[in-house]
Amino acid sequence: MTEQTAPHTPVSVEQFTDEIKEQLTYTQGVTTDLATDADIYVAASLAVRKHLMDSWMTTQRDMVQGSTKAVGYLSAEFLMGKQLRNALLNLGMLETFDDAVRALGHEPNAVIDAEVEPGLGNGGLGRLAACFIDSLASIGVPAFGYGIQYKYGIFRQEFDEEGRQVERPDYWINNDEPWGHIDYNRSQTVNFGGSVEEVDGKRVWKPDWAVRAVPVDYMVPGYKSGRVNTLRLWTARSFDEFDLAAFNRSDYMGAVVPQVEAENITKILYPEDSTPQGKRLRLEQQYFFVAASIADAIRVFYPGESKPDLTTFPDKICFQLNDTHPVIGIPELMRVLMDEYDYDWDTAWSITTRTFNYTCHTLLPEALEVWSAGLIGDLLPRHMEIIRGINDRFVDELKESGSDDAQIDRMRIVTAGDNPQVRMAYLATVGGSHVNGVAELHSQLLKDMTLRDFSEHYPDKFTNVTNGVTPRRFMRLANPRLSALITEGLGTDRWLSDLELLQGLAPLAQDDEFVRKFAQVKRDNKVAFANFAKEHYGFEVNPDTMFNTMVKRLHEYKRQSLKILAVISRYAAIKNGTVSADDVLPRTIFFGAKAAPGYYMAKLTIQLINNVARVINNDPDVQGKLAVHFPENYNIRLAQHLIPATELDEQISQAGKEASGTGNMKFALNGALTVGTLDGANVEIRERVGAENFFLFGMTVDEVEALYAKGYSPAAYYEADPRLKQAIDMVSNGTFSNGDRNTYAPLVADWLTKDYFMTLADFSTYADIQSEIEDLYQDQMEWNRRAILNVANSGYFSSDRSIEDYLERIWHTGPLA
Ligand SMILES: *Cc1c(COP(=O)(O)O)cnc(C)c1O
Repeated sequence: MTEQTAPHTPVSVEQFTDEIKEQLTYTQGVTTDLATDADIYVAASLAVRKHLMDSWMTTQRDMVQGSTKAVGYLSAEFLMGKQLRNALLNLGMLETFDDAVRALGHEPNAVIDAEVEPGLGNGGLGRLAACFIDSLASIGVPAFGYGIQYKYGIFRQEFDEEGRQVERPDYWINNDEPWGHIDYNRSQTVNFGGSVEEVDGKRVWKPDWAVRAVPVDYMVPGYKSGRVNTLRLWTARSFDEFDLAAFNRSDYMGAVVPQVEAENITKILYPEDSTPQGKRLRLEQQYFFVAASIADAIRVFYPGESKPDLTTFPDKICFQLNDTHPVIGIPELMRVLMDEYDYDWDTAWSITTRTFNYTCHTLLPEALEVWSAGLIGDLLPRHMEIIRGINDRFVDELKESGSDDAQIDRMRIVTAGDNPQVRMAYLATVGGSHVNGVAELHSQLLKDMTLRDFSEHYPDKFTNVTNGVTPRRFMRLANPRLSALITEGLGTDRWLSDLELLQGLAPLAQDDEFVRKFAQVKRDNKVAFANFAKEHYGFEVNPDTMFNTMVKRLHEYKRQSLKILAVISRYAAIKNGTVSADDVLPRTIFFGAKAAPGYYMAKLTIQLINNVARVINNDPDVQGKLAVHFPENYNIRLAQHLIPATELDEQISQAGKEASGTGNMKFALNGALTVGTLDGANVEIRERVGAENFFLFGMTVDEVEALYAKGYSPAAYYEADPRLKQAIDMVSNGTFSNGDRNTYAPLVADWLTKDYFMTLADFSTYADIQSEIEDLYQDQMEWNRRAILNVANSGYFSSDRSIEDYLERIWHTGPLA
């Protein structure tokens, strides 16, 4: 390693203790003996931040001077989780911190827990962005995460007396927040509205109003790489008179809007990631952060140059579009190049298409973002002109290549007709170099179905990068016991930056001594979770039961309904003696899930799960045999506690609907066995861990398509399987609603008449496979052997590997020297 990338210098416990005290005294003004856990948390974080500062500055310097192209990861969401412990791990300061905090008379875990989790994402997509910037820094690739610093993150979920979800605002920023550094001197101006005029033969945008985009920088420390990248989240402000003078206000700037109105733009995270939000404010957010980020990248890579040679821009940085939310960046870069730097269309287009790449995260056609051309024209008139320009040239290209009218209509970026719409996924596909899906199956289905015409027209653009998760957070931090055992088994901790080394555990699955140790780790994690659940939720959890978990956003396609129907069926079977008491394998089922506030069916499902839990947990007939718990507010913190304690995890979406999933990877890496369908990354997990170590059930994508084509009638399945019939009857007869038959009527009606995601059709095979699961669980040695093989063969699902694939297939760059 070179001098610049030398690992951070070690800090003694005494020194770090003094640094914490110094922060307490000179930054916070609190005496050591009066300091609370939260005070210590802030002081320690500020001290850690100082230790990262040198590496942060050298990384930025090397990035700007360096020969290596940088990556700009554009994402409307970054679901980071708590920062302090992650920074300590990457600095090699975990133990120093624990000792220093104890020396100050505090409990390390209490200090860690004082951090408020920034919830700047909805679920998988936002967490993926966080894992990716961790891996970029750990591999040493210069990168920016670019996004939005929402004032209110994802809502805090509570349950009311009836078990219904209540959304509480998450005003997370109203706490001491030592990680974000607001940098007023690197602000950008973002314009909106107005009109476009012809001036001296040039198109000139005369915007109506403008806001100030102020960057808030978060350090992203790499694990043992000596590199620290930047997550730059933009916050919207108004300009004041002083700013206007200072920035030498240009003619091409819209009127200043009042503070409150400006700040509205970055006030809330949109609470949905799988259905489009036809909201003007959301488009404002998207343009706001993307325009600021593009201007920022030009500032960073061409410092002080008024006439930069932007034909080199694609050699300096490439932008990855995390879903369609940042796709307005394509016409924005075109506008900047043509209107601000005088490039002609063709040059601007060549630069733009070499700069952007697009990751598609869905298959559901209704989840592909579409904006009305009227709205874009209103808010961003110059961009709408450029989008039409892109569309017209693309249509010409299609005509020349012999496409027929029907095909051209299917592929237009701007639809024809009275109320034209802009299809953002199509704009991204045409305006960038590569399009990737997020798992093998998903990428194949994109080519075969969702973007079929485009993959035929641009066969070389399409590729796959299977998602991954960072082993630093989801193994080392979340599961220190298993991490220690792995390090013992492998004789090294290098697996944390080279996760394929986990394969070295495979032979140990045959070593009874190791298997027993592994079983003890799981057992200890279960006890630890039982204590955590008791303390934070008041649940009595019995660690002598199988821990069976389904945690993820609540969505019909993910099929929490399938799980709860199977639970009800099991409950009925125990209660009416269909299974004898001796044959019952005691299970505790955990759910965790937030529903989008406007998603009625999802919220009703939450209510049902809570009430099934209430009835089962209070029924003496099933005491000790079946329990259901639904801790509120599933977030990264809860994931880090629950996943390591789980023995069986549920990945039971309808085949062809989950693009990849990343929860599935976290569980496999933590030694849970999966019961799942052939969907998303489940397919690849099963291939790697071995079919015999994965509980597969349910229809395949082809069978699902065939059944849709034939005509699906759920009622037939209800009639055919008495277990299913009984479970649904219990929901409809008021068993879980104090006798009220109306409460769940909309759910029952949907199951029996529509059931778009074919929950009923998959019920029987799902119920059948439970006895196979329970038989294996009776043999604890064998179960744990298979769990070890899951860990050993899941190294591929490190986000480091995903990033290596992006580097090779899409970004064509690498680490700094
Ligand atoms: C990993 C993760 C997700 C994604 O889970 P899936 O099962 O892949 O949908 C969502 N939320 C949180 C808090 C996570 O950690």
